[in-house]
Amino acid sequence: MSKRDKKRLANNSQWRLRLHFLGAAGTVTGSLHFFEFTEAGKTVRFFVDAGLNQQDDSVNYRNRLPAGIQASDIDFGIFSHAHIDHVGYLPKLMKEGFKGPVYASKPTCDLLGILLPDSGHIQEEEADERNRRQRKRLAQNKDKNAKGTGKNLQPRKFEPLYTAAQAREALKLLRGVDFNVKFEPAPSVVVRLSRASHLLGAGVVSMEIGSGGKKRRVVFSGDLGRPGMPIIRDLEAVSKADYLICESTYGTRLHPKRDRLKELADVVNRAYERAKKPQSPHGHGVILMPAFAVGRIQGVLYDLRQLMQEKRIPNIPVFVDSPMANLATAVYRKHPSEYNVATANAAKKGDPFSTPQYAEVMSTDQSKLLDEPAAKPIIILSASGMAVAGRIVFHLKERLSVSNNTVVFLGFQANGTLGHQIVSEQEKIVRIGGQYVQKRAAVEYLQDYSGHADYADILRWLKGFTPKPKKLFLVHGDDESLAGLKEKVEKQLRWDVTVPRCKDFVDLE
Ligand SMILES: [Zn+2]
Repeated sequence: MSKRDKKRLANNSQWRLRLHFLGAAGTVTGSLHFFEFTEAGKTVRFFVDAGLNQQDDSVNYRNRLPAGIQASDIDFGIFSHAHIDHVGYLPKLMKEGFKGPVYASKPTCDLLGILLPDSGHIQEEEADERNRRQRKRLAQNKDKNAKGTGKNLQPRKFEPLYTAAQAREALKLLRGVDFNVKFEPAPSVVVRLSRASHLLGAGVVSMEIGSGGKKRRVVFSGDLGRPGMPIIRDLEAVSKADYLICESTYGTRLHPKRDRLKELADVVNRAYERAKKPQSPHGHGVILMPAFAVGRIQGVLYDLRQLMQEKRIPNIPVFVDSPMANLATAVYRKHPSEYNVATANAAKKGDPFSTPQYAEVMSTDQSKLLDEPAAKPIIILSASGMAVAGRIVFHLKERLSVSNNTVVFLGFQANGTLGHQIVSEQEKIVRIGGQYVQKRAAVEYLQDYSGHADYADILRWLKGFTPKPKKLFLVHGDDESLAGLKEKVEKQLRWDVTVPRCKDFVDLE
């Protein structure tokens, strides 16, 4: 370390545990929590989650670390789970000098092997697109300049935040750990992950920081799942925390209490009735299910298999047309230790994700064949979940205008997405890939697959902490959810609750 760096990082010899809120504070995206811990004159710096801000990309290009800290000063990191808004900033930190390691559950590490390179690929595509648009603007401006009306525009090359190759490099920093087994990434920092039931491998992070009488327990919820999720085990109880950082995505909302399998069976049976009657020249109807490739598609596959086995829906051929989803399903198959009892029992009799007529589609040629007239009703599961990109867009372009087809959305459709337009009652015609398409297919919407705890689930989890923590920090929610949950916790549990804003820091005494 150079003299300058030593001066910059001059250790305060006093005991201090400082937590910086650097993302998902006052918002739902870009989770980033940064800890600085000083004991006996030594300082350890680490992050818990380092996610991409998916609402405002310019944030990711800025320095997101506390003033005076560089990526190379960070000793290690911990990941709660494999969603890009919790992990997608890692390759950028590596580019800036962070050398790892990063600890995460083994399934999380495996899922990151798929998700991080894909994120790099998307970053490269976005940079290409911006450069292409700039070239077009410059060319138009050149024409105007020739006429004397143009501005003096300077070309600027947009670089991707990171490339797919850099993301693959970042995977080397990962260290897989087991659930409920303590590890010590630095002296006087002991960490344990317990299952969060949000996604395969998702964990709650419990930390004991400090030694002797000066030990503090800090717990980070990550994203909390719901009870009774398909495939994965339920949320594991955690009961001790001096300081607790908790998500608030559904801070003001309750999920309807419905029987998920019955809802899915009803939707598929209705769709099958439509699909049975062929329509010339399109053939039989197709049931299209846009869904997130990691987590959601596996959950639906599991439920479809069960419904077919119980003869509650017809034995319809199922095609999973998403290379990423098929890779993710392989990761799900690799970790049976994460299955709940029902899935573990199903796995004893065969593959819990394969329906009787099941095909994983990888090549684009095979994918195109699915747009041919159907000889019998089929189900196509494909990404992305909100139909903003991916192969589902091509299938929608082909099938949305035919009335014996059904589109089944399996989660929230954000404003501005193709999924939102299709779900919207008002829109009769939608634009897909530059083409106007009449909406004649039936559209169904199932909200039963959300991976997030609602506020009643969160409150139940919080009640498990005894004695009450000194302070609860609420993060990962929009303003309404954060304020709503804060009020509920203060009223019902009489806890001390803070809603930090981005760049706030606090000393945990
Ligand atoms: Zn998540």
